[in-house]
Amino acid sequence: MRYAEVSVNSPVAQHRAFSYAIPSGLSVEVGQAVWVPFGERLLQGVVLELTPYPSVEETREISGVIEPSLQLSPHQVLLARWISEHYLSFLFDAVALMLPPGFERKAVTYISSPSSPPQHDISLLSPEQRALLEFVQGRGKVSLRSLEREFGKKKTQAIVSQLAGRNLVVRSYELEPVKVKPKRETYLRLVVPAGQAEQEAVRLRQGGAAKQAVLLEFLAQQSQPVSWVEARKSVGVGKAVADALVGKGLVAWEQVEVTREPISYQGITPSSPLPLTPAQESALRSIKARLSRAAEGGVPPDIFLLHGVTGSGKTEIYLQALAETVRRGKRGIVLVPEIALTSQTIERFAARFPHRVAVLHSKLSLGERFDEWQRIRDREFDVVIGPRSAIFAPQPDLGLIVLDEEHEWTYKQQDKSPRYHARDVAIKLAELTGAVVVLGSATPDVETFYRAQRGDYHLLQLPERVTPDVGSPLPRVEIVDLRDELKSGNRSLFSRPLAEAMAKALAGGEQVILFINRRGAASFVQCRDCGFVFRCRRCEIPLTYHFDSERLVCHQCNYRTSVPQVCPRCRSRRIKFLGLGTQKLERETSHTFPQARLLRWDSDATRGRYSHGEILDRFRAHEADILIGTQMVAKGLDLPLITLVGVVNADTSLNLPDFRAGERTFQLLSQVAGRAGRGTLGGQVIIQTYSPEHYTLQAAAGHDYALFYDQEIAYRRLLNNPPFAQLASLVYSHTNGFICQREAERMKSVLGAERDARGIADLSLIGPAPAFIHRLRGRFRWQLILRGSELSAFLSSIPIPQGWAVDIDPLGLV
Ligand code: ADP
Ligand code: ZN
Ligand code: ZN
Repeated sequence: MRYAEVSVNSPVAQHRAFSYAIPSGLSVEVGQAVWVPFGERLLQGVVLELTPYPSVEETREISGVIEPSLQLSPHQVLLARWISEHYLSFLFDAVALMLPPGFERKAVTYISSPSSPPQHDISLLSPEQRALLEFVQGRGKVSLRSLEREFGKKKTQAIVSQLAGRNLVVRSYELEPVKVKPKRETYLRLVVPAGQAEQEAVRLRQGGAAKQAVLLEFLAQQSQPVSWVEARKSVGVGKAVADALVGKGLVAWEQVEVTREPISYQGITPSSPLPLTPAQESALRSIKARLSRAAEGGVPPDIFLLHGVTGSGKTEIYLQALAETVRRGKRGIVLVPEIALTSQTIERFAARFPHRVAVLHSKLSLGERFDEWQRIRDREFDVVIGPRSAIFAPQPDLGLIVLDEEHEWTYKQQDKSPRYHARDVAIKLAELTGAVVVLGSATPDVETFYRAQRGDYHLLQLPERVTPDVGSPLPRVEIVDLRDELKSGNRSLFSRPLAEAMAKALAGGEQVILFINRRGAASFVQCRDCGFVFRCRRCEIPLTYHFDSERLVCHQCNYRTSVPQVCPRCRSRRIKFLGLGTQKLERETSHTFPQARLLRWDSDATRGRYSHGEILDRFRAHEADILIGTQMVAKGLDLPLITLVGVVNADTSLNLPDFRAGERTFQLLSQVAGRAGRGTLGGQVIIQTYSPEHYTLQAAAGHDYALFYDQEIAYRRLLNNPPFAQLASLVYSHTNGFICQREAERMKSVLGAERDARGIADLSLIGPAPAFIHRLRGRFRWQLILRGSELSAFLSSIPIPQGWAVDIDPLGLV
């Protein structure tokens, strides 16, 4: 194999790999990180394939391997290729997902003398050449930069080229070292022999210094210096005692460099597997049976959907399945939503696998992440736990991948390419490695559940909580019809039942959460008398009100109409834009409940003074009575004093112009309804709405996933939405609205022509239309939607200019 196909770190490379010759003497393998010449520059690349022949006639040579040597596994190389093909991302962007952090550092060039220098008459060299050569030989290896300091920049480059041409010096390239601050800890070291220390201890005790004696004896028994934190814990003495011994010249303080341990094991007691309930037992048995199959990869993987409410014991099953994986000599990756990556979660895993758990999260410094990456690759951990990007951890011997809360939409990378979904990547990785996948959720994604029903995945059900009635029954959920409120003259944001429940809770010193969904709140139009929502006749999604044109627009197909004067269903004239923000809610709340202390938690608030954690801590410390917030508050509902959650208007979430709006609303409300009132005081949830009969709300109120799923899947089938068809969203953005629209229309005709030329029958093009977020940071956005199958393959042959963002299998269309 004399040639390598290399993915190069340059946007110019786009979807391509490039052929390079492998110079003799250089050993290169698949996955190897290398330096390659690219135009005038030297760039990083990763070898994807070794071949006997290049794919082009003229090739250049690989300049060298990147030091310290770094290699992706063959599985990761295949995974990167798949991501690039499926999500239509640039090849190197897909490769980069799997590289250690800080890979895109600069190259440092080194000059050294070759191991076997050629016979060469030194006297033929010019004095300058000879001086530089001797400088290099004297030191063995010098960075180009220090040569330049010595001999001048221009001259150095010329002379190095001349000498390299005669093989008198060689160049090599290394990544700039990552700047990692070593972590130090204070240790106590005995400075006298152990025997002498013990005699001293006896003397100290006789002299009444018992504490000093105990510490000294403890140190005398250790073979090595001990960290002060540990010594203090074992012996139970303060720092003054240690200082006294230091003063007597018996022990000394010492600063020791330690490896960073991202998990502090202080206070974590190792835990043993719990005896399982019959439902858990049967689920675990099924998973174990598949773990024992000697899967080699290349066959469809075993995928389990573990469906069970919060508290049904899913995590215990993950832990025991991981233990089985480890017993079989394999390792695991556990993905959790970033927001769930709390110390509680980490501790549960760390307690079961002490010192064998790696945690990857965004708060680690670059150096820490780099360390973890290398330690994972060096087989130091049985379990890697982290958010969606942890699926790219270099965990060897992969036997099990767990995705907890598999329905969470943070598993999809939306803001930048590759727009991958960690669930789909996990399944692909399992196919490549032979690993087993376990997806867990209380409210599974409709598509996942559909596949489980169809038999593509193994469905495991945990219908009940492990401890069904210990203090935490499911809360009561009441749906309040806002139309009735209006009819009886109540125009406030609070229905009478909600206002009464709030007053009662506050009087009892309990806490209340008010929950609103602000996104898209003012965009749809609704009749306040009968709840009718204006929808697109073609797409069935709510129409969006555009303030500039004063028209209703379908942001999927661009259907436009004027705002009607009367409701087509009940002839009422009370047609309203529903606008409601946290600020307005805050004002009205403080007006209605002047004594209550308010706290606001939304993305605006957290951007400023307090972090999520701080807001939650303040609420936990009962520094406020009412917490007002958007989506995020659903995560903080396990507080004991919260007895009431009010969903101020469920319709704002329900009527987002998106086929997944119902599913999102259900998941959100289920989370609220399943969590509120976990404390001993019990709990109540009140959902206010203009469409109380909606199946999403009924199902969430009744804690009834089946009711929701049956309706939802019927609609998906009717409207040919996923999982019955595949979608792709193409969004073009431009500062000029007219150019933006024209490019979107041009693209549509290109796609249409290609479809017709290839005779593809099941592909529809929807739009173009202004995107739901019509303008973003000064740029107009137009969206084109494709519905069909095998869309990646179809789109891969079409040139897509800059300015387009392609999203295959988009999470939603807003
Ligand atoms: P989930 O992940 O579904 O929310 P967990 O695994 O966290 O459920 O279980 C909920 C609680 O029940 C935890 O406190 C856990 O320690 C406990 N638990 C789980 N399984 C058992 C069991 N078999 N016996 C006793 N307690 C259990
Ligand atoms: Zn009406
Ligand atoms: Zn439409």
